[in-house]
Amino acid sequence: MKLRVLGCTGGIGPGMRTTALMIDNDVLIDCGSGVGDLTQDEQNGIRHIFLTHAHLDHIAFIPFLADSAFEALVGNPITIHLQPETLEILQKHIFNWQVWPDFTRLPNEKNPVIQYNVINPGQQVKLGNRLIEAIPVTHTQAAVGYRVQSSEGGSFAFSGDTKSTDQFWATLNNHSSLDLLIIECAYTDHEEVLSQIAGHHRPSSLAEDLRKLQHNPDLYITHHKPGEEGQIMRQLAGLVEGRTPKVLKRGQIFEL
Ligand SMILES: [Zn+2]
Ligand SMILES: [Zn+2]
Repeated sequence: MKLRVLGCTGGIGPGMRTTALMIDNDVLIDCGSGVGDLTQDEQNGIRHIFLTHAHLDHIAFIPFLADSAFEALVGNPITIHLQPETLEILQKHIFNWQVWPDFTRLPNEKNPVIQYNVINPGQQVKLGNRLIEAIPVTHTQAAVGYRVQSSEGGSFAFSGDTKSTDQFWATLNNHSSLDLLIIECAYTDHEEVLSQIAGHHRPSSLAEDLRKLQHNPDLYITHHKPGEEGQIMRQLAGLVEGRTPKVLKRGQIFEL
């Protein structure tokens, strides 16, 4: 299983892209602005998108992808896996014929280029040799993280956007291994109130949560606010014991 980081920042700027992870050549987790760097062939190959939640930095490029890859998707639709609450937001606020056309009715209702698969936390979806499990997390709206297991043995987990959530760690501990953990830390510890309101981790809340994890995966931090990466990582390094958090970078590839 190959994991490629298309975007991993909590904002925009030169060289920065918002959240999108690509598994092999056909699956995305979230569809932020990182998807805009894919070639036309790569876009045409996407068959599944697993959404963590409906915030714009995670969904912004679904409309453009549906439009750019339209010809390739006729008769070969993209399936978007998402919670009921996320689906409602997409239908009401994005694919409403005003912000963007409803691609679940194009080119016609019988053969649309986008279809939805509603999932709930705890549910697993098997795609070839990959098993993708939705894990509940705590954000400002319905949100999940994902754990992905390859039948070849490798596994990783991605938190999506979250603050402290016991269930996330309990689920990871229920499995026998975890090779890679990508988790968010959007704010510094100077922004405690803001991080609580926005439903994001800061170094001290993340360090406390990491003590609940029984595995020792490679640890990568994502979704930092632009300009705060250095401070977040310095604060985090002073708080976590026995782990070595690294900054997730756009373009990174993991073989799992
Ligand atoms: Zn969010
Ligand atoms: Zn976000």
